[in-house]
Order: sequence, then structure tokens, then C-alpha cells
Amino acid sequence: MKGIAVLGSTGSIGRQTLDVVRAFPDEFRVVGLGGGSNLELLSAQVREFQPLFVSWAEGVQGPGPFTTGRLVTMEEMAQAPEVELLVVATTGKAGLIPTLLALERGKAVALANKEVIIMAGELVTRYARSYGGTILPVDSEASAIWQCLRGEDQGISRVILTASGGPFRRVPLDDLKAVTPEEALRHPTWQMGRKITIDSATLVNKAFEVIEVHWLFDIPWQKIEVIIHPQSIIHSMVEFVDGSVKAQLSPPDMRFPIQCALLYPRRLPNDSLTRFDPLAIGALTFEPLEPERYPCFAIALEAGKRGGTFPAVLNAADEVAVELFLEGRIGFTDIPELMERVVSEHRPSGEATLEAILAADEWARERARALARV
Ligand code: MG
Repeated sequence: MKGIAVLGSTGSIGRQTLDVVRAFPDEFRVVGLGGGSNLELLSAQVREFQPLFVSWAEGVQGPGPFTTGRLVTMEEMAQAPEVELLVVATTGKAGLIPTLLALERGKAVALANKEVIIMAGELVTRYARSYGGTILPVDSEASAIWQCLRGEDQGISRVILTASGGPFRRVPLDDLKAVTPEEALRHPTWQMGRKITIDSATLVNKAFEVIEVHWLFDIPWQKIEVIIHPQSIIHSMVEFVDGSVKAQLSPPDMRFPIQCALLYPRRLPNDSLTRFDPLAIGALTFEPLEPERYPCFAIALEAGKRGGTFPAVLNAADEVAVELFLEGRIGFTDIPELMERVVSEHRPSGEATLEAILAADEWARERARALARV
């Protein structure tokens, strides 16, 4: 049985990961659980899975409410020899250091926390290459590309990422200013955490996925396209030089890509997942991405392409902007404005080392908060 640890176990992807684990009781032993502030759920998970290690947001102080499992930090958990597969299902920058530490020890990392790749794509992929660690993509689009590319490492002419377009695909542009957090959190096809749901409404999430695919599969920027596909059934496509196109399809349920990553390279049946039914779906449609509807997309992608510490700055500005929007302190259309201002003020200093990335992240958070108060 494979020793698995789940960071962010009480979040949306974490809970779905444990669902997949429950479906394969002979495959995995949960050796670590790292939760956020939902201690009630974390305690229930600890009782059920009896892990060796537990971490929670408040750190390692105090006895904690757990009857089993040693209290450790996420960083300690990532390095524990018992952990063979680390699932990084945290959000924001929380997963960065644990990911690097696990890769440094040659472990497999199922990466759902895409901000890790956004902040430090060059560093993370270099760690995987240098130390023999493996990054297993969990994001549905990255998983789709990964599955389309199995056994096909040459002759790629382009990658087509699909985007649902979020809840405001049909809202008149002039009305976007007044949309509420509640409306933005109502995603049409996916059930996800709050941060990523807002990122899907602004399409920052899609720019992040372009950056993710660029780093994970070494695809040049100009070969990555994005189209709107409202049904979220085709998760992405790869076109080859002979004109043939492969697409990966499934119902919009994150347990499909999670299972694909956890069991890699095997495929095993899981009866708890709803099967793809083309007749029930009926039509699959496609639309161009409207740049004026999604200004965040170009801002985020541009920062990704500039590289260095720019993506970390962009990511931090986005995290702060989303937080402020959810708190009702800025409007929806203030998000791109704030992101753009912070990115334009960034002056990178030298190489994008881990220290420089963390410093840029810190600076951008403070700057975004300061600018939002103006
Ligand atoms: Mg995705």
C-alpha cells in the first residue's frame, strides 16, 4: 500500500481526494493529514484514517484535539519517509515549500495547488528534474493535457485549453461592476473552493492554467490557446502536426483527475463516479474568449510570460484582491485594476530564487493592501 499524505485535507480537493482513497482501500494508507481551520472535520478525518502525522493551521502548539497522529508542520510531513505520495491541495502560497521539500526527497507530488507552479514554475520543475521527484497534475485541464500526451512526446502543434467562462459569461459588460461575491461564487459547472471559484469568474484561473501547462509540459507560450467551452466536458485538447486532435472528456467532477494522478500509471474502476453519457449531454459548444469581459486573463498571462518574480507578484496581488472582493471591500472590476497596478510597480532584483520569490510575494501583498486602502 502506498503511503499518502494530504495537505489541505479539509478543503474541496482534499475531501474529494479522501473520497477517492476510500474507493481504493487496498491501494493507499493515509499516513498524514494537514487541515486548515476546520478542526471538527479534521478531527473526524483523523479518527477515520488514523494517520501517523497531523498538521493544522494553528501550527504545532498545544495538544490539539486529536487522539492519534503526531502533530507536525506541513514541511515536516512533506519530508517524512513514510510519505510516498504527497497530495498538495492547499490554496495560495501555502503549498510551495512542502512541494519543494517533497520533490527534493524524490517523492511523487500530486499537485492541485496551482499557485505553487505559478509562483515558482521554473524552480519547481527544476527540483523535480534534479532530484527525481514526480509532479502529478491534478488540475482538470493539466490532467487532460497529460492524458492526451501519454505516449506522444513529439509532433505537438498546439494545446487548446477549455474554460467554462464562469458565471458572468452572458452578463452585460456594464453590469460586471455591480456583481456580488455571492453571484461570483455560483459557478455554473464546477463545485470548488472560494478562491478558485472567483479566479474562474475573472479567468485568472485560466491564465494560471496556461502558465501551469507551459511549465509542466514544456509547451511554448505561442502554442497554447484558450477557448470557452461552457459545458466543461472536454477538459482540454492537444493538436498534433498531422492535424489530428486528441481531447480528454469526463463529467465535471474533480475525482476523475484526482484518481488519475493518485493511481498513475494504472487505471482502475471506480463505481462511485458518474459515467460520461454523451446522449444526456447532447451538444458540446465552443466560443471565443472575449478579452474585454476578462481583463484579468491578459494581465495574469503577461506576468506569467515575463517570468522571474512577476508571476509571484501577480499571484499575491490576486490573492489579496480576491480576499478583499469576498469581504465586500472592493468591487469585481477593481480586481484587474489592483492586479495591474501592483504588477506594474514591481521592480525585480536579480534571479528568481526561492528567497526572491517569497520576498516579492510579501511585497506584493503589502502593496496590494496599501493600494486598496487608497
Ligand atoms: Mg482547472
